[in-house]
Amino acid sequence: MAVIGFIGLGHMGGPMSANLVKAGHVVQGFDLIPAALEVADRHGVITAGSVTEAVSGADAVITMLPGGKQVLDCYDDVLAAAKPGTLLIDSSTVDVADARQAHERAAEAGFGSLDAPVSGGTAGAEAGTLTFMVGGSEADFQRAEPLLAPMARKVIHCGGPGNGQVTKMCNNLILGASMIAVSEAFVLGERLGLSHQALYDVASISTGQCWALTTNCPVPGLVETSRANHDYQPGFAAALMLKDLKLATSAAEQSGTDTAIGRLAAELYQRFNDEGGGGFDFGAIINSVRDHSDQR
Ligand code: NAD
Repeated sequence: MAVIGFIGLGHMGGPMSANLVKAGHVVQGFDLIPAALEVADRHGVITAGSVTEAVSGADAVITMLPGGKQVLDCYDDVLAAAKPGTLLIDSSTVDVADARQAHERAAEAGFGSLDAPVSGGTAGAEAGTLTFMVGGSEADFQRAEPLLAPMARKVIHCGGPGNGQVTKMCNNLILGASMIAVSEAFVLGERLGLSHQALYDVASISTGQCWALTTNCPVPGLVETSRANHDYQPGFAAALMLKDLKLATSAAEQSGTDTAIGRLAAELYQRFNDEGGGGFDFGAIINSVRDHSDQR
């Protein structure tokens, strides 16, 4: 069993670190928020007073932080305090350029590192059924796989440094755009006298079938697993969808890629966020489609 430093014990990092404890690892956790440390302590995490303390003596360090800035800031302390041979795994969702910078800094300091963002949301973090999309060397991937296993349903090697983040961003471009398309279809249908059930019965077995329809349907009452049935409590918050779509838009700009739909999806989630929707599940965008539809 390994000693794992875990930095960032929030909605995702909290349950992920608890699953590592359950699997028998020694987990040394740190977060800036005392309440997060208290919860982690109740789940058997050894709480640390600083990043340096959490990293001390660890075989691997996992970061699960809000964004790239926090990861790179944190790496100042991690790289200074980690023992030689420590494997660094960043599971936060961050800009590809930030992820590649973290890899470079780790390599310069002599550490193996991986970007390993996740999908599956807080439910997946609690159940230990996340999908990890991993970028980095094959050797580091092999070392990480057994450590990630207690938190994962699937751990997939997506290529070299940064490719985990590229995969996550591309997946969420599909997800954000398809959730808006499904929402628009339901609102258009209802305004033209079509029942939600009829549209669902056809689209769910036809060419319109997708995850946004059949797993997280934005209309309540049609799909058991949908957050729409729980007043759109996330789930995957619209603010996080906006974050991921912005990452995709900025990567598209940097690489000269024409992602017109992705850009529009980011604009629509931005509008929803500005109107107070950021804390709701991303499927609640259907209410924004309704609100902005002509009421004649
Ligand atoms: P969160 O805000 O709940 O947790 C982040 C934690 O990091 C907070 O508790 C914060 O106090 C802590 N933190 C910030 N700076 C720190 C520092 N310097 N040192 C120590 N702790 C620090 O966010 P979350 O929902 O757990 O998401 C974490 C990451 O996972 C994000 O990058 C997010 O985009 C990604 N993600 C989230 C979900 C989801 O459904 N919540 C799904 C997939 C991916």
